[in-house]
Amino acid sequence: MTDTPEQQQTHSLTRKPPIAVRRQLRKEVGFGCPVVANGQYCGNPYLEWNHFDPPWRVEHHHRPEGMIALCGEHHRKSDAGAFTEDQLREFKRRGAERAGEVKGRFDWMRNELMAVLGGGFYVESLVIVEIRGEPIIWFERDEDSLLMLNVRMLTTSSETRMQIENNFWVARGEPDDFECPPSGRLIHAKYSNGDTLRVEFFEAVSGDELIRRFPTFDRNNVQYLSFPITCVEVQHEVADSPWNFGPTSMTDHQQNVFTGSFFQGGMAAYSFDNRSTMSPPRPQPGIAAIRYMQWLERQAAQRKRADDKRE
Ligand SMILES: [Zn+2]
Repeated sequence: MTDTPEQQQTHSLTRKPPIAVRRQLRKEVGFGCPVVANGQYCGNPYLEWNHFDPPWRVEHHHRPEGMIALCGEHHRKSDAGAFTEDQLREFKRRGAERAGEVKGRFDWMRNELMAVLGGGFYVESLVIVEIRGEPIIWFERDEDSLLMLNVRMLTTSSETRMQIENNFWVARGEPDDFECPPSGRLIHAKYSNGDTLRVEFFEAVSGDELIRRFPTFDRNNVQYLSFPITCVEVQHEVADSPWNFGPTSMTDHQQNVFTGSFFQGGMAAYSFDNRSTMSPPRPQPGIAAIRYMQWLERQAAQRKRADDKRE
């Protein structure tokens, strides 16, 4: 039940809770809808915010102890009185322990997509980033030729991290925060060591809109695109390492900074550290990048030891 704009204006509070309250509510339930009905745990990751003690119609408040994160379906059922206050409190209390891996999928299926990564733009490039021959961010086409996103989140920690496989995402490891609004076009995972991954799909209707949103987009490249164009933007920070795919630039392991590139086609837009002399055995998916980072650190430590000895 949503208020009309006129109703909202007369309230001192809008119905959408502040960021800190939303973060607390989704973490409390382990980032999945905590309802157990007929012995079945829901776990839907697309969460809304239900005011139950007291309900919103009785008092406009954002006190987390009287609120719970629920999926859209269970939010409506809760508003209609399906659950008692005691049941909702039990869902709040036991949600996190019942939650397993948080999973979902992007339903954005397109023949053409522009990937936006580290302030650069990629059209018809199937592999956006690969490290030592292992793809890190790439697309595959399904049998209908629709593009599906794949991401292996990098980390220097020994923990597992979020993966996206052909649009299916799994928030592996233990995210400190995981945001996944019901629109289904955005996910944002944050881990306690500082690793983050944010993926957002959207449509741009014109070159002007693209440039407004991305100041690094070169107006001369608008001619190569047809509008409306669907974009997927990936931002990824790798804690304790130089790697950073930020909103306006990308930094690699050698601290090189890239920005504003425009790639069309090609095998791999960015291919890092493909030294044939090393010829490592083909590693397990997702492990290579982690090992790679550990390797880089060992190299740096060895160099430092050698420097120290010389002094
Ligand atoms: Zn639910």
